[in-house]
Formats: sequence, C-alpha cells, structure tokens
Amino acid sequence: MLYAIKQHKSPETMLNIELIPAFEDNYIYLLTDTETGTTAIVDPGDATPVQHVLDERGLTLDYILNTHHHGDHTGGNQALKKRYGCTIIGPAADKHRIPGIDHGTKESDIVSIGDSKTKILETHGHTMGHICFWFQDDRALFCGDTLFSMSTGRLFEGTPEDMWASLTKISALPDDTMIYCAHEYTEENGEFCLTVEPNNEDLKARMDEVRQLRAQDKPTLPVSLATEKKTNAMLRAGSATRYAAIRKMKDDWD
Ligand SMILES: [Zn+2]
Repeated sequence: MLYAIKQHKSPETMLNIELIPAFEDNYIYLLTDTETGTTAIVDPGDATPVQHVLDERGLTLDYILNTHHHGDHTGGNQALKKRYGCTIIGPAADKHRIPGIDHGTKESDIVSIGDSKTKILETHGHTMGHICFWFQDDRALFCGDTLFSMSTGRLFEGTPEDMWASLTKISALPDDTMIYCAHEYTEENGEFCLTVEPNNEDLKARMDEVRQLRAQDKPTLPVSLATEKKTNAMLRAGSATRYAAIRKMKDDWD
C-alpha cells in the first residue's frame, strides 16, 4: 500500500516534518529531530499507516503526541506503544481518556523531542483539555482539531468563549508560523468562507490554490498563520459573539 508523504523542511530547522494521510481525511504527522534521530508521531488515529512508514524507513518511534482524546487521534496509541515502547504525551486534563498516556502536560510546559522543543498551549473548545504543540524554533504548530484551514473544530465540549480564547492565543503567534491541522477540510471550509466574505481577494486567491492542489490530490497543509488571518472567517471574527454566529452558520451549512 502506498501513502503519499510530503516533506516540509527548511535548511535552518532541525525538525523534519512529514505528513501521513489516514482514514478519509485525517493527517498524522511524523516528526524527526534531525540532530538526534528522535522521532514523534502526532495524533495517530490509526497505527497501520504509521507502522508502514516507520518500517519502510527502518525507524523506531520514541514519542506519541496527542492533542485530544478523540478516537481518530488516539486510536493507534496502544498498538504503536506495544510495538515500539514509545512514550505517550498528552493533556493532563485528559489523562483518564487518552489510551496509554504516560505524561500529562499543562499550559506552557516544554516537551523535548531530542534537541527540538515544543511548548504546550491549552486550547479548550473542540474538547475541554485540547492542547496544541508549538515548536517555536521551527515555527510549527500542531493544532489538532482546534484550528482548521479556513475554519475551526466543532464545539463538542467547550463554549464559543472557550474557543475564541484559544483562537486569540494562536493568533498571537508569529505570522510565519506554519499550521499543521489534523484534517483535510480546507476546500469545503473555503467554500463556506466565500459565503461570509464573497469579496475577500485573499480568500479567492487561496481558494484558487486550494482547488488546484485538491484536483491533484495534494495536501493543502500546512498553511501559514498569515494566510489564515487573511482568509479564515472564524479567526477573523473579532469577538466571541461574532465567532459563535459564524460557527453556527457553518454548522447549519454543513
Ligand atoms: Zn476531534
């Protein structure tokens, strides 16, 4: 079985990031700290495609990073832990509902993946206990189901106020931060954003690019925070109240 893998590495960064498609539209990310060879997998909903890639490379797995407890992000935890003996890191608030978790983390904790460091951002909303992994030196944010390109995750457990606070936290990161979302929902999200802001030229340009990528079955991710700030109607809402209204419109539109 073949899995498309895309590499995103800039010469200055030590973290190699690759994308492993899973299920219908999930993305699992393989991180390799190039200095030490330390590996981590972000949100393995399914162990099979991860094992395939690791075996093909002759790699072992040192860490699993879980953003939240949903099965399509944690379903591969136990199988991967059994096979590789990896350490599972996730939100402390969700220790009771993340399979095989070893270490619970809280806001501002720093986790080392070899020489690469990631800071924990608590981003309640999609679930309570959701976290993002912010690799500041590498300008990479693994945001699970908090932020999608041109949308956000649904509010299964948190309030619009919770999610707005989380979006505000993400917006404060540097504009050149690359956002690694957990799902390929971009094209549909963008179609919705066009109903909210039909005259947004940046949005139209991004959608041209997105449609071309999808027509070739290529990922639309990662995306820069700068682009999201120009195109994501929910991130651009300006207030929790307005965010709630746009989120509701999207829920009805889906
Ligand atoms: Zn989820």
